[in-house]
Parts: sequence; C-alpha cells; structure tokens
Amino acid sequence: MNTRLLKADEEAILEAGELLRKGELVAFPTETVYGLGGDAFCAASSKKIYAAKGRPSDNPLIVHIAELSAAERLSPELPESFYTLAEAFWPGPLTMIVNKRPELPGETTGGLDTVAIRLPDHPVALAMIKAGGGYIAAPSANASGRPSPTLAEHVMEDLNGRIPLILDGGEVGIGVESTIVDLSEGKPMILRPGYITAEMLERVLKQPVGTDPALLRPGEGGRPKAPGMRYRHYAPKGSMQLVEGSSEAVVREICRRLSESGKRCGVLCTDETKESYRADAVISLGSRSDLSSVALSLYRALRELDDAGIEEIYSESFETEGFGMAVMNRMLKAAGYSVVKV
Ligand code: AMP
Ligand code: MG
Repeated sequence: MNTRLLKADEEAILEAGELLRKGELVAFPTETVYGLGGDAFCAASSKKIYAAKGRPSDNPLIVHIAELSAAERLSPELPESFYTLAEAFWPGPLTMIVNKRPELPGETTGGLDTVAIRLPDHPVALAMIKAGGGYIAAPSANASGRPSPTLAEHVMEDLNGRIPLILDGGEVGIGVESTIVDLSEGKPMILRPGYITAEMLERVLKQPVGTDPALLRPGEGGRPKAPGMRYRHYAPKGSMQLVEGSSEAVVREICRRLSESGKRCGVLCTDETKESYRADAVISLGSRSDLSSVALSLYRALRELDDAGIEEIYSESFETEGFGMAVMNRMLKAAGYSVVKV
C-alpha cells in the first residue's frame, strides 16, 4: 500500500473523512501524540488498527469524539463525574473510562465491557473526527513497542506502506499520551498519568482520585488495570538505565559509566548538565525547570538514540510530582524499570 503524507488542510481532511467512512485508517495529529484512527463502530477497521501497529488485540483503543453529546451513543450510563470532568478538561488530554453500549464492537474495546472516550484539543483532529462520522477509535500511531509519534515523520517511519494516509499537522503540543481516568467503578482511578494530574481532577470533582500503584513500580498492587500499561512500551533499541540522586552525584555516576563502557553510549540529560557529558549522543530534554519541554522532547530523543545506533542509554531522572509523574512513568517504561540510585 502506498502511504501518502499530506499537509492537514481542508481538502486533505475531507479526503481523510472519506477514507474513514470506507473503513480505512488515517493517522492524525492531536495535542498529545499522533493517533491512528479508524471508524470505532466498524469492527473491521479496529482489526486493521491492530494489524497495522502489530498491537496485541486485547489492548483496547480510545474512542475519539468531536462533541460531548456524542458520548451518549457509546455509553448507556454516563456518571455525573463524567460531565463534571468533561466541562473542566474537554477538549483536552483526558480520557475517561465508562461502561459501553453493546453496539460498540468488542474489537474496539479489546473485549472489555467498558469504553475509553476522549475529546481532543486539536483543530485537525476535531475536523477529521467529524468528517469521518464522529467516532474514531485511535491508539497512538507508532508501531507497537516504539515510542509514540510526536511528528508526522515518526508515523511515516513506523507505518509506511501499512496505512493509506497521514495528516501532517506539525509537531504535537504535549508529547505524552492522555491521562486515563476510570469512572466505571466507585472511586475514580488514574490508570495512566498524563498532563492532567490527580490533583487537578480532585480539585474539580471535590473527591479523592486514586492512582494505579503499578504505574511507577511494576508488580505493586497487581497488574496495571489499563491493558496497555502492561506491555513494555516506548522501548528504545539500546538498553536504558535511569540514574536517580542529587544532580552532582547523577552526573558523576553517568560519567563513570560512560568511561567504563566500551559500547556506543547515549545520555538523556537537561540543559543544566549537558556540558558535563562526553558520549556518542548527548541529548538535552530541555531545562529541568520546564517539565513541559522535557515531556515534548522525550519520544523524539528516544527515536534519535535508535537512529544513532546507541547500545547503552543513561538518563537523568525527574521528580514524580504533578506532570512529572507522567514523564517518569514513560521513562521508567522505556528503561524497563531499571533504576540506579546514587
Ligand atoms: P494508546 O492510545 O496507544 O495510548 O492506547 C490506549 C490506552 O488506553 C491503552 O493503554 C489501553 O490499555 C487504554 N484503554 C483503552 N480502553 C480502555 C478500557 N476500557 N479500560 C482500560 N484501559 C483502556
Ligand atoms: Mg500507544
């Protein structure tokens, strides 16, 4: 299959809508990462998404909508908390899990009786969802196991020849996937951390919000509840270790490891420390005081390290407060939870 990469103008979006209505797939920008979309009510489209990504079929997709009222066709019982959070955070990087209607194919929800719903904050995504019928199932548009795409070129790298169309909307805004909150059981529970933090949800809901304990420490509290959090995602080709401790101790430890390694080494660091390292690739994720830039740079940096043939990656680590929780969750997964404390 020939994969076309089109600038996401009006004409390209209409074409995307036609493809989606015919059951075909289109990759598109959102404010978090690029998504790979198909008609959520078409079981065959969802199957194509799994095939194109090489994704395990028990890992459910998120259904993207363009207006709040559309959620009623997905779920027979939307709790009050759903409307409260939608009002506060939609359009935006928040995905909510609620009970699903039987009409929504099990292929879209990985066989679960719940559905994950999101209304993204990106003009191209919203226009394309409308043009495509209003219900677009979409996981991130990477090949399974690769870092999520933050640029249309990343989608091309992973899915060239596997899908007909990629809408290029430039670089995304946030760079890590949406926060997922489960509203299908009593207490709201964060299954995947993202830009919207537990504190932000609590402030609006005026009730406690739990966080799946397995997110920062594997094995804690059993298996992660979001099936996707169980797989080793975002894995760079090289082996990766996170180094945790005071800034000085971390720099010293990474430099020591670099000097002892005979392999091609890469370092993920910050503007404050980047001059301290000599390695085959030294990538600053931005200033330590600006977590947003760290989040936006992370996946691209992991791809660059792969492209540079890096065999060993040493990375500085970050606080897990606020948005840092999402950043560290992705870094820990990339490192297979390998952490050195100094
Ligand atoms: P992706 O968009 O590639 O980040 O993948 C979607 C994420 O949402 C995966 O981690 C899924 O496991 C999660 N997800 C989607 N639907 C549900 C659901 N009904 N229950 C729990 N997690 C879900
Ligand atoms: Mg993904």
